[in-house]
Amino acid sequence: CGIVGYVGGQSALDVVLAGLKRLEYRGYDSAGVAVLADGGLAAAKKAGKLANLEKELADRPLPAGSTGIGHTRWATHGGPTDENAHPHLDNAGRVSVVHNGIIENFAGLRAELTDRGHELASETDTEVVAHLLAEAYSSCGELAEAMRQVCRQLEGAFTLVAVHADEPDAVVGARRNSPLVVGVGDGEAFLASDVAAFIAHTREAIELGQDQVVELRRDGVTVTDFDGAPAEVRAYHVDWDASA
Ligand code: GLU
Repeated sequence: CGIVGYVGGQSALDVVLAGLKRLEYRGYDSAGVAVLADGGLAAAKKAGKLANLEKELADRPLPAGSTGIGHTRWATHGGPTDENAHPHLDNAGRVSVVHNGIIENFAGLRAELTDRGHELASETDTEVVAHLLAEAYSSCGELAEAMRQVCRQLEGAFTLVAVHADEPDAVVGARRNSPLVVGVGDGEAFLASDVAAFIAHTREAIELGQDQVVELRRDGVTVTDFDGAPAEVRAYHVDWDASA
């Protein structure tokens, strides 16, 4: 339902949680975050309101990091449980993904992954993407390229945002029939399903087009189509009142 991603010099957890709060008005049943820190990936997720997630984070704090992603979920596949909340991870716990929308062909992909030895922990359509990204990354060694390869296998409507522990300074997003907006700051960048999530930090935005993949780094943003060709993007200034 709501997606936020961040890379920069601030606490990713603080930026992501504040962004998720700005998206709360959309309604949701669960929430979660993942942060890259200390060469690894740490995640927390809880059914219920953001307050439940914040309590979990107070009880079991995540290590501080400056790259992270977050999600508020509106369940379509699998009930609103802690396990089904996003982010979803691969079995090695190196890649983490959040998703809005529906992966129509997830059942077939899930069966293939299970045949190849993956163990899936949730009932969601989303989790297949974490496992597919891990496989693709292990052969191509680049998260944006892994995302392009995985998106070419997916059917349905989706916004996807992912991080990989081996690329601690990058956040990668993709979209098809579901919104995703980039915010470009000074030494930092944001990804969100709605500009409201990052408007407190920057008003320089880029709207992703259909079937595009974006790689966010502190010093810039790269956008391609699902085949890797450089893509045309629409940059704009958000001039509506942030408090509205
Ligand atoms: N289909 C996914 C799920 O049920 C994503 C739902 C959403 O858009 O929040 O977990």
